[in-house]
Formats: sequence, C-alpha cells, structure tokens
Amino acid sequence: MSVQLWKISFLIVQMYYLSLLILIPGTILSFWAQNNIKSTYNRYAQVRSTMGMTGSQVAQTILQNMGITDVRVEAVQGQLTDHYDPTAKAVRLSEGIYNSDSLAAAAVAAHECGHVLQDAKDYKFMNFRAALVPAANIGSQFAPLLIMAGIFLSALGGISTIFIYLGIALFLGVIAFHIITLPVEFDASSRALKLIDELNILQGEENEGAKNVLQAAAWTYVATAFASLLQLTQYLLILNSRRR
Ligand SMILES: [Zn+2]
Repeated sequence: MSVQLWKISFLIVQMYYLSLLILIPGTILSFWAQNNIKSTYNRYAQVRSTMGMTGSQVAQTILQNMGITDVRVEAVQGQLTDHYDPTAKAVRLSEGIYNSDSLAAAAVAAHECGHVLQDAKDYKFMNFRAALVPAANIGSQFAPLLIMAGIFLSALGGISTIFIYLGIALFLGVIAFHIITLPVEFDASSRALKLIDELNILQGEENEGAKNVLQAAAWTYVATAFASLLQLTQYLLILNSRRR
C-alpha cells in the first residue's frame, strides 16, 4: 500500500466519523421523546377516569358507536405493544391498557380505534404507509451496508459512488415511511381525542390528560422522522466527500 493510499483511507475514515456528528441532534431529540412518553404515560397511568372504563371498554364503546362490528378487541402481551391489525381486523391492547381504567389507557385504546376508523374510511395515508413497509424494511437493512461498502471501496478507488447512490436510493424508502407515519399518527390521535370527549368517556379536565399522553407519543414519531432525515444528510455528506 502506498503512502498516498493510506492517506486517502485516513481521510475517508475521518470523513465518516465527522459526518456522524450530524446525527447528534436526532439522538438527543429521540432520547428526550422516549423519556417524555415514559414519564407522561406513567403519570396518567395512575390517574383513574371518573367513568371508570377500562381500555377494552373504551375501545368497545367507540367501535360500537361508530357502527363498526367486524373488529375484535383483544389483549396482547408486552408493554406499549398496542396496535391495530387491519388484516386480522383486531385492536390489540397490551394487558396494562386492556384492564386499566386510567386516563393513559383510555387515550391509547381510543388512538388504536382511530386507526380502525382510518381503515374503515379508506384513509389514503394509511394505505400508503402500509404499502411502504417492505421498502422501509429493505432500506433500513441494506442502506447502511451499501454506504459502508461504498466507503471501503473508495479506499481502493473506482466504483465506490455507485454503492453510495444505491444506499441513498434504498434509504429514501425509510424516509418516506417515517414521513407518511406522521399524518397517520396525528390523525388517529385527533380522532381519538374527539371521540373520547363526544362519547363522554372522559370528563372535562381528564381530556387534557389524554391529550398530553397522545402528544408525548406523537413526539416519538417526530423524533424518528427527524433522525432519519439527519441520517440521509449524513449519507449525502459522505457522497459529496467521495465526489471530490
Ligand atoms: Zn398509532
């Protein structure tokens, strides 16, 4: 290996680690959002609602009132595993939510019903997001590998940028998924808050508690989308440094 080649390799490694710095704000925001949802959730998981409806009763009530008869409500193991499965037509609530009559449980159960309503009304962003799942999986798995391959190959000269371009192209699927997730989640939460209030599941001030929980959850999606945009910027910086 010539001295020149060592020098180039050193510059590449330096460029890569310097470009990592751009990810720091995303890491900080994600860390804050995770802590924020945990503490907000824990706070409102201890406040029982006046009506005393459990998460499962909240979900049943909403579905019944919206005239939805083909969706089951079932309990699922784990924490924060709550989701709506459109294929199985099932709202799955974690045991802590399913059996709890807290404000947090009402908020989460109603949010999942928000996704049921999106499905029933053929909400476009939801279908779009579902269609992006395979692209997002492939992108998050292979984009970093391709970028790394590009960086190492560039030490040997030649065809490195094509790998970086390919990595970036795949990563766009990940970005699209995280961006589309935002309107889907915001919309589910706003439907949830409206229904909780209209159906008198929560009373007065209690609605604020549910709103706080769903807002804290929304921040985690914002943080993820932001972090993925920073990662794209990192890849573009790497690409730019290779083209010089
Ligand atoms: Zn959701």
